[in-house]
Amino acid sequence: PPGLYIVATPIGNLSDLSPRAAATLSAADVIAVEDSRVTAKLLGHIGVKRPMVPYHDHNADRVRPELLARMRDGAVALVSDAGTPLISDPGYKLVRDARAAGIAVTTIPGPSAVISALTLAGLPTDRFLFLGFLPPKGGPRATAISEIAGVRATLVLYESGPRLAAALEALHAGLGDREAAVAREISKKFEETVTGTLSELAARYADSRPKGEIVIVVAPPGVPAAAGEEEIDAALRAAMARLS
Ligand code: SAM
Repeated sequence: PPGLYIVATPIGNLSDLSPRAAATLSAADVIAVEDSRVTAKLLGHIGVKRPMVPYHDHNADRVRPELLARMRDGAVALVSDAGTPLISDPGYKLVRDARAAGIAVTTIPGPSAVISALTLAGLPTDRFLFLGFLPPKGGPRATAISEIAGVRATLVLYESGPRLAAALEALHAGLGDREAAVAREISKKFEETVTGTLSELAARYADSRPKGEIVIVVAPPGVPAAAGEEEIDAALRAAMARLS
């Protein structure tokens, strides 16, 4: 049926494309894409060829009316290069204008790096604040961090490899030495999650510029450090003694 379809795509492992996402892309009259090379690869993986229209920050205002017109009698799918569209990616104005025009909006849920990193970090998940990307420059970044220092929620941030160490240092300076996790290359070959305090993580990444895509997860204020290996061993020994 005609309308706008928000289609989540894998954040690394192509097998994470859902059957419903594949069916929606195959049936789309046109797919609005960030980068047609990236989406062409995904479509190739499922053996599908559909017309693509670039939709990104630089042309969105110009292309949006045309896409809205096509949704009246056709199915328009929106994808981003990876993960869920609209999450640190273009799309919210397309949804807003489609709604305003009475066009049906459907989401095909799937991977997103925010949620995936939260499931890996081992930090509280009952309340979290997604901050997207911090400002790249020191001053605005420190201000952004100080604005959320009192928030009693786990923080989730997107970051790039070259800026990781500086971001961890700024978070340490602005929030204190909280527990945190760095999740990198989730669902890809070199996937890795490293946990520690912000100062430990800042030191670890100070002279190694990690490659790939990164999510930082930071504990809320006042969350005690996880039990160390010794503590867990002692608890296991005590449990075994009770059983025997
Ligand atoms: N829309 C995407 C989503 O739903 O996650 C996010 C798009 S944003 C432009 C790209 C950022 O997401 C990357 O810089 C990185 O911080 C994070 N990211 C995407 N894929 C990732 C992965 N496989 N592992 C870790 N972080 C990832």
